[in-house]
Amino acid sequence: MTMTPSSTSFAVTENADRATPEQITTVLQDPGFGSHFTDHMAMIDWGRGEGWHDPRVVPYGPLQLDPSAAVFHYGQEIFEGMKAYRHADGSVWTFRPERNAERLNNSARRLALPELPPTMFLDAVKELVAIDQAWVPSADSGETSLYIRPFMIATEEALGVRPSNRVLFSVIASPAGAYFTGGLKPVSLWVSELYVRAAAGGTGEAKCGGNYAASLASQAEGIENGCDQVVFLDAVERRYVEELGGMNLFFVHADGRIVTPELTGTILPGVTRSSLLELARERGLQVEERRFTIDEWREGAASGEISEVFACGTAAVITPVGRLAWNGGEVAMPGTHELTMSLREELLDIQYGRAEDRHGWMYQL
Ligand code: PMP
Repeated sequence: MTMTPSSTSFAVTENADRATPEQITTVLQDPGFGSHFTDHMAMIDWGRGEGWHDPRVVPYGPLQLDPSAAVFHYGQEIFEGMKAYRHADGSVWTFRPERNAERLNNSARRLALPELPPTMFLDAVKELVAIDQAWVPSADSGETSLYIRPFMIATEEALGVRPSNRVLFSVIASPAGAYFTGGLKPVSLWVSELYVRAAAGGTGEAKCGGNYAASLASQAEGIENGCDQVVFLDAVERRYVEELGGMNLFFVHADGRIVTPELTGTILPGVTRSSLLELARERGLQVEERRFTIDEWREGAASGEISEVFACGTAAVITPVGRLAWNGGEVAMPGTHELTMSLREELLDIQYGRAEDRHGWMYQL
């Protein structure tokens, strides 16, 4: 995608206490994930009958909201996650942002929030990254990036279960370090049998805070059982594999076939998922989007028919899965993760500008 000039005019209030270059360098040496924030944030207000107004960039800091604001009581909130990558020539790019803009609007419709024109979404991201570009890690610092978190909340000050008449859209950003610092670490997954993440007709395919709140008890159960993350099953039969709390899943078969759960309305349509489907198809691999049972996984991993399993999402790109555990059993998936790692490299090369962007996926900020 080519660069388009910003068409929304943002009022900018510079942060007088912005971090010094030395302070930024210190943070970027070991940014971790999601714990440091840049100096500014972008904001746009919405009112029923008024539409979107007052686009602005202001110093990063606490929001002042009335305790009766709808978001605190009825959870009317949605968000997105994307990254800014610095290329070797110093330029800063993001990956398929129009997909995030579109997904935000799909989430908005489901949560009875107002849709945001995609140009405003992109302009808010651009404005923030432009003013805080010193926070985008350098190209030679490995697999690092600036994580971008757009979100929308219901701010109307009134109790009463109905769509809020006032809404805030904001974008914040946080430098992110390399996911695999000490080399490749396959994750272990716990099958959540007690709870489900989403049901048909619910909010599973929307990116709303409530979905993540609903996943936390299972996540805690997984950790108690020595696993890193949780696999959610379908709500009706409790046998079809859906996704993890924050990543989609792929199953690589020894005969070369790749299977990923189809989007049935209860799974978040990942931008990484859809990009990997395209890259895998271009390699001539046979890719199937279909329902996939937990028994197919357990048996295929035990017999060797499934040779690799990986999870994918913006934050970790692709993570190999090394073990699946459930109440009463487990199966190890040692393997070399060869295809997993090669797809991972191919995608990273595009994102970091080391390979030609033949799909037009990159967008210069
Ligand atoms: N599933 C869930 C539930 C997620 O939160 C995410 C992260 N947004 C994903 C999948 C992966 O989506 P993406 O590739 O767009 O980051």
